[in-house]
Amino acid sequence: MTEPEFAGSNPVWMGTTARREGAEWVLRGHKWFASSADGAAFAICMAVTSPEAANVYRRASMILVPTDTPGFTLLGNASVMGERGGDWASHGEVSYQDARVPAANLLGVEGAGFVLAQERLGPGRIHHGMRWIGVCERAFDILCRHAATRELAPGKPLGSKQIVQQGIAESRAEIHAARLMVLHAAWRIEKEGAEAAREEISLIKVTVARTMQKVLDRAIQGLGALGMTDDTPLAWWYAHERAARIYDGADEVHLEAVARRILRGYGMSTR
Ligand SMILES: Cc1cc2nc3c(=O)[nH]c(=O)nc-3n(C[C@H](O)[C@H](O)[C@H](O)COP(=O)(O)OP(=O)(O)OC[C@H]3O[C@@H](n4cnc5c(N)ncnc54)[C@H](O)[C@@H]3O)c2cc1C
Repeated sequence: MTEPEFAGSNPVWMGTTARREGAEWVLRGHKWFASSADGAAFAICMAVTSPEAANVYRRASMILVPTDTPGFTLLGNASVMGERGGDWASHGEVSYQDARVPAANLLGVEGAGFVLAQERLGPGRIHHGMRWIGVCERAFDILCRHAATRELAPGKPLGSKQIVQQGIAESRAEIHAARLMVLHAAWRIEKEGAEAAREEISLIKVTVARTMQKVLDRAIQGLGALGMTDDTPLAWWYAHERAARIYDGADEVHLEAVARRILRGYGMSTR
């Protein structure tokens, strides 16, 4: 979906187009952060197919593009936090220059791109929430083991310091709260579906990502220089999981959506 020239936070605004010519779609555009594009057999390209549709959410479609299609070029991988990927974590920059694919490569019906995206993003966000809780728990465990055994002076473990204890207790409370929020959102999705649970999904996306950032930061601080090394997974997570507050909707976008929905309930116009 995402394009370097357009704000990804406003996904209905994009430059990539697919026009129908006979039995083919002809794609033209520029994408980046195409996750796993490097080595992929095909791309799922979000492109504007119905620019005149009155509903802006019905203007784009998803189209499968085999990566050996003439006109499809993987320009390279973005260098992210010092890494250019090349495996599952790659973020490809892709160009479509009159790339032609069969009409049958359309996913679903024309104009259904955002409906399909939403179907993937709702469950995807709760999956992120669960994964991030796992990162928090492991980071917390690493910090606690270290605090209990690292001595600042003979017989004086790091964990005997009140300030370290406070960080441990705060992390425990925050992880616990985040976990219950994720469970509650999952329960609501199961009972009423992802659409009904939109607010809960947005809130866990923001809260768990922020909790993870705080828990990781405290763990790295507690381990000192060791926390900066690659001898533990903390530094890797710290670099790789920072993006959690940006992808699948930046914090601000989710918070704005939640606040607007709440304020509409108080009669405020949010158009
Ligand atoms: C690791 C990683 C993996 C990704 N994977 C994919 C992928 O697989 N497929 C894909 O299509 N895209 C992917 N993306 C792109 C991601 O979806 C976009 O980065 C995201 O939607 C934000 O768009 P943008 O980067 O263009 O930032 P912009 O939209 O330009 O926003 C920049 C910043 O502005 C602020 N902002 C935005 N909107 C508001 C608002 N309403 N109010 C206040 N502040 C606001 C936020 O702080 C935001 O971070 C990935 C990104 C990363 C970092």
